[in-house]
Amino acid sequence: MNTLLLSGGKDDILKAGEILARGGLVAIPTETVYGLAANALDGNAVRRIFEAKGRPMDNPLIVHIADFSDIKRFKLVSEIPEKAVKLAEKFWSGPLTIIMPKGESIPDEVSAGLDTVAVRFPSHKTAQEVIKAAGVPLAAPSANLSGSPSPTCAEHVMSDLNGRIDAVLDGGECKVGLESTVITLVTEPPGLLRPGGVTAEEIEEVIGKIEIDDAVLHQLKSGEKAASPGMKYKHYSPKAEVVLIVASDEDYINYVNERKGEGVAALCYDGDEKSLEVKALTLGEKNDYGEQAHELFKRLREVDELDGIKTVYARCPRPDGVGMAVYNRLIRAAGFEVIELEKL
Ligand code: AMP
Ligand code: MG
Repeated sequence: MNTLLLSGGKDDILKAGEILARGGLVAIPTETVYGLAANALDGNAVRRIFEAKGRPMDNPLIVHIADFSDIKRFKLVSEIPEKAVKLAEKFWSGPLTIIMPKGESIPDEVSAGLDTVAVRFPSHKTAQEVIKAAGVPLAAPSANLSGSPSPTCAEHVMSDLNGRIDAVLDGGECKVGLESTVITLVTEPPGLLRPGGVTAEEIEEVIGKIEIDDAVLHQLKSGEKAASPGMKYKHYSPKAEVVLIVASDEDYINYVNERKGEGVAALCYDGDEKSLEVKALTLGEKNDYGEQAHELFKRLREVDELDGIKTVYARCPRPDGVGMAVYNRLIRAAGFEVIELEKL
């Protein structure tokens, strides 16, 4: 299949809408990461997403809408919880996904057989325009091959999916750089299933106490069931092994430098590179979690372009605020391998 590269112009948005309306796959920009979109109401179209990504069929997809009223209009949920209205008023459009009891129009392929559905209203103008042009809500997981880092620009999408999907709509770099925060309202208290650009603290200000799901910060024990199926998979991994190092600035630098000459690279904070004696990729300022979120996936992809690197020693942010989202992605990229030279 020849994958069309579309720009964000009006004609191209209409073209993307047409492809989607007839059951095709288009990768679209959003403020979080690029999404691989299909008509969310068409089970056959949605099945093609799983095939193109190599995504396990038991991992449900997020349904993207272009207006809050789309939830009722397309019968996406069986009931809109009061807390969903409050969250939507505060955080939509934006990087927050809300899980609710699913409605009659949701095919099993979207919900992976669960009785719930995840809904998000993205703030990216192009994403909104494509949803409107398609005339239906769009199911869209991240537009990468399953297991690799999520794409934050059109080149990343092409490098993973060229020839496997109908089109990519280029909308430049994604603002947030990590996938949306996922909150479920089908449990009481509500549960944070995946941290993202909207923080747990911000959500609690609006709807009160929430529970951070165990899988957010820890590895599930074997046999334990994931509340969010996506959280059980190893994820975001470059080909080299990633190891997280919890350490002071000085201890981190010494630890890495002691291993130079062993095919080692560093994923570090701004300034560390001056003292490091190995190839260093920076995530941003030590205390700027927003910048680290923005840079992380790009840097993980860059690791694959380095020759002869077997191990990447990554610095480990504190799991507070947006740092929780960065930590959550890094620890999965590392397959939960953490070396603690100090307490986090
Ligand atoms: P992605 O589309 O790559 O951003 O992944 C979507 C994430 O949302 C995955 O971690 C899914 O497991 C999660 N998700 C989607 N729908 C549901 C649902 N109904 N219940 C729990 N988690 C969900
Ligand atoms: Mg994904």
